[in-house]
Amino acid sequence: MTGRNKTEKICGWWWLALGLAWLPVTAARAGAAGPEPVTAVLGAMPVEVRLLVGNIQGKHTEEHLGIKFHTGTLAGRRVVLAYTGVGKVNAAMTTTLVLDHYHPTEVLFTGVAGGINTNRGPGDIVLGARVAQHDFGDVSDKDVHTTPTENPITGKPNPLFFTGADRLLAVAETAAASVKWEQLTTTRGERTPHVRRGVIVTGDVFVASPVKSAELRAKFQADAVEMEGGAVTQVCAQQGVPCLVIRSLSDRADATATLDFEKFFRTAATNSARLTEAILGQLAHGTAP
Ligand code: SAH
Repeated sequence: MTGRNKTEKICGWWWLALGLAWLPVTAARAGAAGPEPVTAVLGAMPVEVRLLVGNIQGKHTEEHLGIKFHTGTLAGRRVVLAYTGVGKVNAAMTTTLVLDHYHPTEVLFTGVAGGINTNRGPGDIVLGARVAQHDFGDVSDKDVHTTPTENPITGKPNPLFFTGADRLLAVAETAAASVKWEQLTTTRGERTPHVRRGVIVTGDVFVASPVKSAELRAKFQADAVEMEGGAVTQVCAQQGVPCLVIRSLSDRADATATLDFEKFFRTAATNSARLTEAILGQLAHGTAP
């Protein structure tokens, strides 16, 4: 053995010994405090998660079934972030993947939605206290009769409304006070978001109809309509994982919804992302329970 080989061999053993010496310390730490909690953050469109992905520290990206998941630390909290694509099927798929691969403590869904409650306009934020799927059920010549979905794990019907986790709703309300909002300029002037709990309804259609939005308001007392929340909350409820859907209004789901969406979705998405980041900060450092 050459002198160099000998030195390399000794060094190798030394590193191994050092590594082994650390094992009990690391194991004791993990055992005492348990693994550090991870929050999953999902959004439907790239724009809804881009700002957050850009702020991740120690970012690492991996793929599961072609979906990219970004992990690291955001606002002091360990996170896993992904965008799901639009619609309930895409949202359910990525929610399932994130639960299965990362076992998050909670799931936050951030994004934009159409406003149904006339008291709330583009720029305002609805926290999903109750979330239902408006297009699941029976359709007849008369109407769409909404029915609850079924939980295939228990064989029992799900509730019509999935509930946002109380703790996350409270944390979101506290966090909202610290957010530096991007102003949204509407025909009624500058709009600073009002953040309120409300009812969100989900379906696989972009609603740009005053008739449909009036129907959703009457049937569900909906405040906002979107295309993913009901799927994410269903998957989370069936797996017993706390979840909160955060929706920043980009339009009024009316005849001008498509135009308003184009005008406002970037700012609305940014504000929802900023609130999400503030929630992560609260979860990491806050006094919230
Ligand atoms: N042109 C865009 C449209 C996406 S659909 C695209 O193809 O990428 C609209 C997205 O914003 C969905 O993710 C949905 O959750 C939300 N949304 C905003 N306003 C909505 C409305 N009026 N009805 C239904 N979903 C709405």
